[in-house]
Amino acid sequence: MPSEIPADKLRGILEIVRHANAEMDLGSLIALITQQACSLLEADRGSLYLLEKETGELYSSMALGLSGKTIRLKLHQGVAGLVAAAGQSIIVDDAYSDARFYRAVDETTGYRTRQILCVPIKNRRGDVLGALELLNKRAGTFTPQDEELLSLLASQMGVALANAQLYDGLRTNLDRLSRLMKVGAAISSELDLDALLRIISQTTSHLLQAERSTVFLVDRARGELWSRVAEGLDRQEIRIPLGAGIAGTVAATGALVRITDAYTDPRFNPEVDKRTGYQTRNILCSPMRNARGQVIGVFQVLNKRGGDFSALDEQLLASLSSQAAVAVENAQLHDEVQRAYVQLQALDKMKTDFLNTISHELRTPLAPILGYTEILLSGGMGALPSSCLRGIQAIEESAKRLLALIENLLVFVRLDQGEMALQREPVDVSSLVGRVTEAFQPKVEEWKLTLVREVPDGLPPVMADPQELTVALSHLVDNATKFTPAGGQVTVTARAVAGDGGKAAVEIAVQDTGIGIATENQGRIFERFYQVDGSLTRHFGGMGIGLAVAKQIIEAHGSRVMVESEPGLGSTFRFTLPAAA
Ligand code: ADP
Repeated sequence: MPSEIPADKLRGILEIVRHANAEMDLGSLIALITQQACSLLEADRGSLYLLEKETGELYSSMALGLSGKTIRLKLHQGVAGLVAAAGQSIIVDDAYSDARFYRAVDETTGYRTRQILCVPIKNRRGDVLGALELLNKRAGTFTPQDEELLSLLASQMGVALANAQLYDGLRTNLDRLSRLMKVGAAISSELDLDALLRIISQTTSHLLQAERSTVFLVDRARGELWSRVAEGLDRQEIRIPLGAGIAGTVAATGALVRITDAYTDPRFNPEVDKRTGYQTRNILCSPMRNARGQVIGVFQVLNKRGGDFSALDEQLLASLSSQAAVAVENAQLHDEVQRAYVQLQALDKMKTDFLNTISHELRTPLAPILGYTEILLSGGMGALPSSCLRGIQAIEESAKRLLALIENLLVFVRLDQGEMALQREPVDVSSLVGRVTEAFQPKVEEWKLTLVREVPDGLPPVMADPQELTVALSHLVDNATKFTPAGGQVTVTARAVAGDGGKAAVEIAVQDTGIGIATENQGRIFERFYQVDGSLTRHFGGMGIGLAVAKQIIEAHGSRVMVESEPGLGSTFRFTLPAAA
């Protein structure tokens, strides 16, 4: 009966209630209740157990004198478990001779429990929220009056505790949500796979309050899971066959696994623990699926700090893994592209080295061929019959063509190796155009084309390397003549224009009335070895390097080659060079 409770104790309870109602923080509230209950009832220690809805277990992380440790009890386990299950108080006078007493807690703490007073805590509806347990009365034993007093306190605490739990739940959820969003932002911007996996592991551990997290990726080709960044494993790579161990099972089945005691689960492989000296207690392991629903990896989280993984942890890990999957796929793709790029660069270098060697090897025997044909043709080895002469002239022409091709290749290799030191000087455009078109005159006549030069008088000289510029312009004119059928016209024009910043410049253009280039090919023709018609049976000769060389030379001059073309109507290639000051 409340009437039997002394007035000073009632005042004490009122005081606690007043404080408790003002306390919204769950941890502080629990500490307040246990401390005040201990002093009110002169008990040595106290714990407040809360009932966890998802697991149906009682837990207490605030046991006085047990800082940092969490005690977990199943319903009906120990005195607190029985109190919570039945909703009835219990007094135990001699713990060690009472079957309801659960010794394990004393065994871990080294404390010696003698007496126990434990009362249920309920909300307004009468649902049990937990149990308040006091141990060892300082003088004497716990009395029915003590029980009444503690029950009264507990009944007043129900509402405050329910509110604080609600508030705590909201705050935890909000906190997790905002961390989850931060993780999302952090991982979606990381493209380096190893760095990404490290960030994901760290944040997962942090977010789930776990000791360790590992992200395994599926290697379908080898039927394995692998990880390079398992914490505590010194970055050595672990490989697990799909289907083996917990992570392997999750990868194979695609179903999440939550294990409370790893060593009692037959799927758990204790080998890694043995190697690292780590002690796995509980495991949460979730599949990581890509947008197409394929399992691309597995998240393995070990040892929840101070307890077991909950349903909330499962949800959290599931949303984390769907975010991580996108980032991991991106990073994997980036990794592949990066690797392919490095391989391509190596291949490209091999090709350039090969071209360099082969061009030099091909050029060497041409020197005596050309030398002897010249001697033969000049009669240096005696007069030859006219029928022989024609044959030798044909040999000389072909050898010269071969030499020109090889020279072109050598220029290309030189440019490809980045060896272009321009020797700039004022170049007279009129004579440059004259020299280049002159060289094509025989070909133009043979192919029945018209070659027109349109260079006005008084054009300023341009600042350029005359030799390189001649090579570039020759390639453009060579293409124009090559891709224009008989009867067509090739026009080389030069005109004064305003260049960068309005400075004086000269534009040089090579126009033809030839076959033209379709728009979709115009971007590619400047690539090395690209030919619109790349077949061996193609109509036009060439190695596919002329435009690449011309582009490189003109770009080295700080300019660009532009193309305008329409299939069947012809093409125009133009570029601008600054006038010499
Ligand atoms: P090549 O002429 O040796 O094939 P280029 O690098 O000089 O190599 O040119 C690449 C490709 O661009 C040619 O194969 C051709 O398909 C196209 N092309 C270049 N110039 C012209 C042009 N004036 N008219 C039509 N097609 C051209």
